Amino acid sequence: MAAVLPADGREIIRQNEIRPYLAHERGAGSPCLKCGPKCEGLDLHFWRKICKICHCKYEDHDVKNEEEIHHNIVQNIFRKDRGLPESVSKLTGDLKQEPDIGEDVKANFIQVPQVSSTAAMAKYLSSIPKGKAAHHDEAGAQYRAKQLANQLPAHDFDEAFCDDLTDAEKEKLQEFSDLRAEEAAGQGEIVEKTAKIATDWLCDHCNESLYNGDVAIFADRVGKEKCWHPQCFVCDTCKEVLVDLIYFFKDGGIFCGRHYGELTRVRCAACDELIFSKEYTQAEDKSWHLKHFCCYNCDAELGGQKYVAREEKPYCLKCYEGLFAKVCEACKDKIPADGKRISYKDAHWHAVEACFSCVTCKRNMLGEQFIYKDNQVFCSPQCAKKR
Ligand SMILES: [Zn+2]
Ligand SMILES: [Zn+2]
Ligand SMILES: [Zn+2]
Ligand SMILES: [Zn+2]
Ligand SMILES: [Zn+2]
Ligand SMILES: [Zn+2]
Ligand SMILES: [Zn+2]
Ligand SMILES: [Zn+2]
Repeated sequence: MAAVLPADGREIIRQNEIRPYLAHERGAGSPCLKCGPKCEGLDLHFWRKICKICHCKYEDHDVKNEEEIHHNIVQNIFRKDRGLPESVSKLTGDLKQEPDIGEDVKANFIQVPQVSSTAAMAKYLSSIPKGKAAHHDEAGAQYRAKQLANQLPAHDFDEAFCDDLTDAEKEKLQEFSDLRAEEAAGQGEIVEKTAKIATDWLCDHCNESLYNGDVAIFADRVGKEKCWHPQCFVCDTCKEVLVDLIYFFKDGGIFCGRHYGELTRVRCAACDELIFSKEYTQAEDKSWHLKHFCCYNCDAELGGQKYVAREEKPYCLKCYEGLFAKVCEACKDKIPADGKRISYKDAHWHAVEACFSCVTCKRNMLGEQFIYKDNQVFCSPQCAKKR
């Protein structure tokens, strides 16, 4: 089917488009859940999607007020599916008028999924473990927010969150989004098994039976013959429970948004965006936008330059030396990042005869068996004793 949007659908998306300045200031000042007071509050490195202060990921921070962003993402996901715009406005508008939709539901869903009964919804909500449901406590709300940001990365859905895409890249992202909405996106339905239902229900993830009174998740795109326990409705790649029951179906599997994207596109290791440009770099077993293969410390482009990788991040030689250079035990000079080095325990030497030799008799120890004592190298017990 051709990926043509209904004119009114597009209209709605346009109206709610998030301004780029908002994307740049996203979550500013939010405390880091990993670092605590050591981080003064999120200061977003826009294209790296990490905090400039503590270097933790965006979603490791306790970011509030993301409703508008998630609302737009969900609208983008389901724009062609069962009239979502109304369903979303229900949630943002007069929610309390809907008898089935209480605060608990509102806290856990951007879009309320189809559900067989109010009782089934209540059972579903109570089946989510403590600390993982937004209506349970603050920890649950933080968990859900993190899962939303991770499984439905804003930059997979809206160019405003991407770093300066070219027109060609914008077009590719749009095609990708259209196909995702058209062919893959869905939201699980919550159904309670009752005595009236004669067929056996077997969870497709754990292969255990579901019994009368249990709630199961069904997925339109997958078909009626498969269902899951709520806690078994997980992404095939990361095995995380699918946040808000939002799944993407491809080649018989169900995936979170992040891993659905990675089935057909590579993700840039620096900016976390899917790569839509024709050319990109492969280095350190990862993929990078050409413009993002940069020093992790100073952001200088490293294409065609010498660099050093440390903990899977590339550094320019200058930054590497400044941050991590080893000092030679013999001459006390720094060992250049691209220079030959001998390391033993916590000690390092220039791999040259002048530096790696017996401290006592000056014999060349390169390639020889040596005795190591107090960060020093000796050729024999006799020489070691003399120090
Ligand atoms: Zn942090
Ligand atoms: Zn931080
Ligand atoms: Zn199961
Ligand atoms: Zn996943
Ligand atoms: Zn990138
Ligand atoms: Zn640098
Ligand atoms: Zn040296
Ligand atoms: Zn010696």
